[in-house]
Amino acid sequence: MRRVDVAIVGAGPAGTATALFLSGSGLQVLLLDRAVFPRDKVCGEALSPGALPFLESFGLMPDLRKEGAFPYRGAVLSTPDGLRAEATYPEDRFGLALPRERLDWLLVKQASVQVEMRQGVMVEAIAPYDNGHTLSLKASGTSEALWARAVVSAEGRFARTLTEAMHATGPASRFAVVATLDGVEDLGDRLEFHLLDPTMQVVVGPQAPDRAAIAVVLDGPDASRRAPEAIKRFQDQLGRDPLLAPRIRHAQLAKPPRGMGLGRYQPRRLVGDGWLAVGDAVGFMDPLTGEGMYRAFRTAQLASETLLAAFAAGDLRASRLMPYARAVRREFTPSYRFVDTVVALSRRPRLARFALRAIARDPVLAQRMGSYQGALAPASGFYSLDTLARFAWSAFH
Ligand SMILES: Cc1cc2nc3c(=O)[nH]c(=O)nc-3n(C[C@H](O)[C@H](O)[C@H](O)COP(=O)(O)OP(=O)(O)OC[C@H]3O[C@@H](n4cnc5c(N)ncnc54)[C@H](O)[C@@H]3O)c2cc1C
Repeated sequence: MRRVDVAIVGAGPAGTATALFLSGSGLQVLLLDRAVFPRDKVCGEALSPGALPFLESFGLMPDLRKEGAFPYRGAVLSTPDGLRAEATYPEDRFGLALPRERLDWLLVKQASVQVEMRQGVMVEAIAPYDNGHTLSLKASGTSEALWARAVVSAEGRFARTLTEAMHATGPASRFAVVATLDGVEDLGDRLEFHLLDPTMQVVVGPQAPDRAAIAVVLDGPDASRRAPEAIKRFQDQLGRDPLLAPRIRHAQLAKPPRGMGLGRYQPRRLVGDGWLAVGDAVGFMDPLTGEGMYRAFRTAQLASETLLAAFAAGDLRASRLMPYARAVRREFTPSYRFVDTVVALSRRPRLARFALRAIARDPVLAQRMGSYQGALAPASGFYSLDTLARFAWSAFH
């Protein structure tokens, strides 16, 4: 049986980033994915400003520019009756929008230069064996086995092999349908969040002056039941948005609508003896604030630091890897709370209006909201006394 130091299961942003962080360490790393790239992924396709330094460190910024990645400079939140607030980024910061099949392909190409990668290989099961793990692989109908001293689960939202099935930690009451449209009018360089009513929001992510990834987010206990109709009649759904309807009269689908439930999922554990999870495999959160890819890169960075220290100490037991799990919880629990707060506001029009008015009146609040949304500052700042006092002061004066 072939033996490697680290097997990474999944070559999305989290898996490729882990491979890139581990490259050059002297460890023998094998990156595996069941897909053959380029492959697509349901996503809003907006890389937050906080995610860009990672891509810079991987040497990918020139390629992103060549691919025509579209810079966006903040987010606008609007209601149909004309209330509008902007979450701004610092002047020198921006996010980039790029189709996932292109972004993930760039990451895969870069990772494959640095470490060995195999595509079209399904990891069917992983079991502890001989102070490491055996991985049961299936490629082109043939089964084979591999031994790895450490395994990184970067399998995404439906991670199964190590973390055991994800369990839902909240009701699956939201569902997103995403498509790309050409010929959209009046697109600026801001993400648009249209807060239509408690049962539906629309998110517009410009990818070119007249192209956008557009997500219809359905909310409410019947969201999943409404989803098939929203997929089938996507453009009719967009027609319900008075802020978008007049701008898509001549638009055409460039990428067909696809849907995904947005319930919160978590694995029971993030680490075990000789393994850890990264990216969406540490738990899925509602992508309303667009932090998923930032979290994929950041968890990859934290995981590789922990793994390298564990290899150096010759100890890969769960107790040695536990600081990683604690760091992930410490860093991302405020983000989960922030997302929950934004979702809660979108369900309560009066509170949402209160918040929007405050953000529109106070430039400091506008910049703070941009920083939390863009993964430029820890979302814990949202709950500081100063921020909450600013909301109250600005909304009432
Ligand atoms: C509707 C929606 C909109 C979103 N919008 C945004 C956004 O605008 N900005 C943002 O930053 N984030 C967004 N996200 C979140 C973002 O898509 C994820 O956080 C990100 O893709 C996580 O990366 P990952 O590498 O962990 O997982 P993935 O990208 O899901 O990659 C997992 C990989 O693992 C492979 N794999 C899985 N199981 C196995 C196996 N057993 N064997 C071999 N290979 C396997 C898969 O083929 C896949 O390639 C959105 C998510 C959704 C659902």
